[in-house]
Amino acid sequence: MCSDPGQELIKQDIRDGLVNRVVVAACTPRAHEPIFRKACEDAGLNKYFFEMANIQDQCSWAHWHEKKKATEKAKAIVAAAMSLLEPGKMTVEPLISEVNKEKCTGCGVCVPLCPYGAISLVKCEDGKLRSEIDPALCKGCGVCTAACPSKAITLHEFTYEQVLAQIRTIARWPEIQA
Ligand code: SF4
Ligand code: SF4
Repeated sequence: MCSDPGQELIKQDIRDGLVNRVVVAACTPRAHEPIFRKACEDAGLNKYFFEMANIQDQCSWAHWHEKKKATEKAKAIVAAAMSLLEPGKMTVEPLISEVNKEKCTGCGVCVPLCPYGAISLVKCEDGKLRSEIDPALCKGCGVCTAACPSKAITLHEFTYEQVLAQIRTIARWPEIQA
């Protein structure tokens, strides 16, 4: 399917109005997902209405000695990919950061770090300055959460420790892949 004729089949079905969502069950998305997304886009379909079901890496390769079970697992992977594209099924909660006013010392470290200008220092009722995050501007990048020396900021759904763990993992990614 990743060859030009394969992509053309998908494009033609989109142009003919036969499909408005596309799932390809094949090998790793690392290699081919961008190709298929572009094919969808070229045919006029939002590229995020494409999902790749990876039935290679953790399926056919991992379970090569149990073919029947691998086939059942492949079907489940395809079903999961399809469910992601089902209209109205997928909802994503926006991630935003929140300041714990009791922990915030008003040091101001976080204010200039926010790439979206979402943080400001405001005077509280006790006369002390503390940071405040505008939820309408916050994009949930986690920079302030990791930088706060008082661990006063929590990325909604992620704790300070979880954000740091993610940053450490990303920093070690080339080493992990090697
Ligand atoms: S870095 Fe932390 S302690 Fe300092 S102002 Fe921001 S939230 Fe408050
Ligand atoms: S999470 Fe990112 S966007 Fe949100 S306030 Fe912190 S630095 Fe700004």
